[in-house]
Amino acid sequence: MLKKIDHLGIAVHSISEARIFYENVLGLVCEKEEEISSQKVRTAFFELGETHIELLEPTTEDSPIAKFLSSRGEGLHHVAYCCDNVTEQLTQAKEMGCRLIHETPFTGAGNKQVAFLHPKSSHGLLTEFCSEDNK
Ligand code: ZN
Repeated sequence: MLKKIDHLGIAVHSISEARIFYENVLGLVCEKEEEISSQKVRTAFFELGETHIELLEPTTEDSPIAKFLSSRGEGLHHVAYCCDNVTEQLTQAKEMGCRLIHETPFTGAGNKQVAFLHPKSSHGLLTEFCSEDNK
């Protein structure tokens, strides 16, 4: 079962440039920056109430984020829903006919279990399921 929106993922060319907007204009506080080498991405998380903003910067030219930036430019990349059990949520989506990007969850930012549905199955917006904190 989904609990809440865990975070919004926003693709940017440069975290060090983009964070100026999030920190100085919006007044958010950066909790952590983390490189996820398996996904070829650097992330920065900002806390906002119960949810977070995740900035995503590509670390290689063949990063999925680099491809996204070249085709669609900077902006909203994905929405992440926090759920009890990522594997169950994936199984359920698959049974309903959704295409999955990941058949099984992997360890993403913050050591959470994460997995993505294909945007073709979710009306154009990449959808992430992630586990709750410290699970
Ligand atoms: Zn995410």
